[in-house]
Amino acid sequence: MFGSRRDGGEETVVCIACGDELPRSDAREYDKQGDRWTRHGKRFEHLCVDCHDDLCHQPRDELEDLATDVAQTVDDPSSEAFARAFQREAADRADADHDGR
Ligand SMILES: [Zn+2]
Repeated sequence: MFGSRRDGGEETVVCIACGDELPRSDAREYDKQGDRWTRHGKRFEHLCVDCHDDLCHQPRDELEDLATDVAQTVDDPSSEAFARAFQREAADRADADHDGR
């Protein structure tokens, strides 16, 4: 509804990693899709600072593992679907790195 706010106008979100509820202003936005092809209807997940930092500590040279994981999520690993899924995942990790410092 227009004009409906919570008390104080502070919106809360839930961390997707640990399930904690926290003020949105304290949360980190996390786009688990990480793709630039689909923006319409996109919704962002949220992470608390602790979980966000944990993600950023993951090494980035795990692309082979990543490829293996992605291959299991698509019907035809040799198809363009795999390439897109892989790029999504890679961009996802890169984004986390940029945000995290
Ligand atoms: Zn968390």
